[in-house]
Amino acid sequence: MAVTIQALRALEILDSRGRPTLMTEVELSDGARASAQVPSGASTGRYEACELRDGDAGRYGGQGVLRAAAHVEGEIQEAVRGLEACDQQQLDRRLIELDGTKRKERLGANAILSVSCAVARAAARSCGVELWRHLAEVFGTEPVLPLPMINIISGGLHGGRNIDFQDFLYVPLGAGSFAEAMERAVGMHGRVRAACEKRGYRLTGVADEGGWAPLLRSSAEALEILAGELGGGDGIAVDVAATHFFQGGGYRLEGRVLTSGQMTELLTEWVERYPLVSIEDPLAEDDWEGWRELTRALGERVQVVGDDLLTTNTARLRRGIAEGAANAVLVKMNQIGTLTETFEALAVAREAGWRAVISARSGETEDAFLADLAVASGAGQIKVGSVTRSERLAKYNRLLEIERRRGLKMWRWAG
Ligand code: PGA
Ligand code: ZN
Repeated sequence: MAVTIQALRALEILDSRGRPTLMTEVELSDGARASAQVPSGASTGRYEACELRDGDAGRYGGQGVLRAAAHVEGEIQEAVRGLEACDQQQLDRRLIELDGTKRKERLGANAILSVSCAVARAAARSCGVELWRHLAEVFGTEPVLPLPMINIISGGLHGGRNIDFQDFLYVPLGAGSFAEAMERAVGMHGRVRAACEKRGYRLTGVADEGGWAPLLRSSAEALEILAGELGGGDGIAVDVAATHFFQGGGYRLEGRVLTSGQMTELLTEWVERYPLVSIEDPLAEDDWEGWRELTRALGERVQVVGDDLLTTNTARLRRGIAEGAANAVLVKMNQIGTLTETFEALAVAREAGWRAVISARSGETEDAFLADLAVASGAGQIKVGSVTRSERLAKYNRLLEIERRRGLKMWRWAG
């Protein structure tokens, strides 16, 4: 007899920034239970699915998620009870239809995603298989260990606007295994700390994703510091998160106002000067023409990744592909709200020959679901943050465990 969904319970918990988020527990007809916790971004894109918050200023400044929790235990539970736990696509379709809105604003993408993920985990448990293997079976994908891009210096909204660019990441291209990649990243994190201190910067803590957030003179200085500490053969990635300093038609960068053409010129200079291999959100989320020009100029030399531009949304992704607006997509489950839609976006990217990077949010939890998703999808790359803060390490440690136990190979950067 097919194992079905029996009961859902939702709980308001806290994320790594101390903001409310949702944990949902599911119980199946064979007694298997599992839970999942959903993350939450800070530098969110306008086209992301809707995170439902209570708006009741008397609790958590309006950020509570009790309404989303009530939707899980009420309407959603009623609609999905009795569905086959292993038929993830059917479950996700039901959730999408039940909500009925484009951005999942009625029930909340946080409520919907927590159910989508909790059921997948319970179904895996019920069959006695690892979550990544279950997901690969359900979605017909080829598992591979992802190459991590690891945050070392943070800026923008994650670093108290110390500098304008958001993420400066280390890409351990020379590592032969995931374990070696992590060992190199920890070394890099420590060397960069020392290099910042040598330049006279005081480090008093870490940013939202665990990277250092020194009050540098400029974003270019962060690249200089990273380039100075890089091992041979390794690379640097940046997440410009340009949407968040685009105002009134211009990019407000370090006291100047740049056009998208000037942003592209600046980044081209940096690609020539520094070992940059990947650039995310170099331009704002609606600057399609700028993205096309930038990808024409740089797309042969670096990975150009759309995050706020594409928001894991297949309609926007198809447009991006048709227009040649980037050559890679950042994939965040909560930007779209179900596992099925997340895998759809990955399939569309793969078909077009685009690369994909599975990404955490700046507000995370101890849930390591993302590690299994990254392996299962075969996406090849993952971005989780730095090597401090346990909500980040939960994912890295899970990947170490999968590598050790299953001997999967890590994806290799070709070209
Ligand atoms: P966010 O940041 O979770 O705050 O959106 C991550 C990113 O921009 O890649
Ligand atoms: Zn981003």
